[in-house]
Amino acid sequence: MPKAPEPPDTPPPADPASAEDVGKLADRLTGGDRRALARAITLVESARPDHRRQAARLLERIGDRGASGSRAALRVGLSGTPGVGKSTFIEALGASLVERGEKVAVLAVDPSSALSGGSILGDKTRMERLSRHPRAFIRPSPSRCEPGGAARHTREAIRLVEAAGFGAVLIETVGVGQSEAATAGMTDVFVLLLAPGGGDELQGVKRGVMESADLIVVNKADGETLAAAQATCGDYAGALRLMRRRDRDPEGFPKALTASALTGAGVEEVWAAIRELSDWRRARGWRDRLRAEQARLWLRRALERAAVETVTGDPAVSAALPELERAVERGEILPDAAVDRLLAGFRGRQNPRR
Ligand code: GDP
Repeated sequence: MPKAPEPPDTPPPADPASAEDVGKLADRLTGGDRRALARAITLVESARPDHRRQAARLLERIGDRGASGSRAALRVGLSGTPGVGKSTFIEALGASLVERGEKVAVLAVDPSSALSGGSILGDKTRMERLSRHPRAFIRPSPSRCEPGGAARHTREAIRLVEAAGFGAVLIETVGVGQSEAATAGMTDVFVLLLAPGGGDELQGVKRGVMESADLIVVNKADGETLAAAQATCGDYAGALRLMRRRDRDPEGFPKALTASALTGAGVEEVWAAIRELSDWRRARGWRDRLRAEQARLWLRRALERAAVETVTGDPAVSAALPELERAVERGEILPDAAVDRLLAGFRGRQNPRR
């Protein structure tokens, strides 16, 4: 395959930084230096323990600059099955936002990278036009990360781009299951892109995803597919009327719209709807409640991950595990009993006097 030209925000290599470097990096980043931003994101994506420690220091140093107050960005999740037009749509939307003077960051949550080391989202040459704009920052998803890591990296990257002064963060994810839930769990507004024709089941959209959508956009409303797009949109508009969550949706939401990423028709209207919803929620304190809830869930996930790492990282546990796995396979011990045995040993080593 021919090698695609590298977009300007291609990750620079992570290099170890001293405490002083981390401080400088934070200062440059909050000053809006995009190279510093790119480097900081590389740092939070790294699995190396020394990088993790530096990333933690960096995030701490940045604090919640960006998470609240005047630098709070509007975080928008966009999901859809491959081919629906996500990158074309984000490019069109991003272009219209930067033209209006907004600073736009695009981040990707790529569920494939955790499993296969491959990437659905990252390896295309994407959004070339937008990526060259000085007010746009595009970051493809990391090509490799540990299971469960994709969502954490993206959460941390959101903090970084907000601290760097980006007012709109568009988070792209492929609609293949868990990743949408993760994306809905880190954004203020969640948009589901659909193609004209075919029910959501045909398009591989799970019910839970429909339920978390604030906005459904039927893309490709142009040319031969215009009529089909309008019909599909009508079908969803009917279904969505029954799905209004009164505490968090103003009249008329969740909403279905048509758009064409190719011609740009309807793209402004989609942004207007995103803004309307977000302003309404913000004015009622809902946005802050939602972010607080998301932060609490993030703590839970992080604790769970840390707990698993602590136990499986114990040398005696990892030494005993293969033999116990074989015993479980042979039916000699039940899985829960095997866990009890491992944990008993682990606790004994943690508290030798008890
Ligand atoms: P993604 O996989 O969801 O990111 O989809 P892409 O953005 O790569 O688009 C997939 C294909 O659909 C490409 O050939 C696009 O040119 C085409 N496409 C995207 N948006 C539109 C649209 O609004 N109208 C039409 N007719 N084609 C579109």
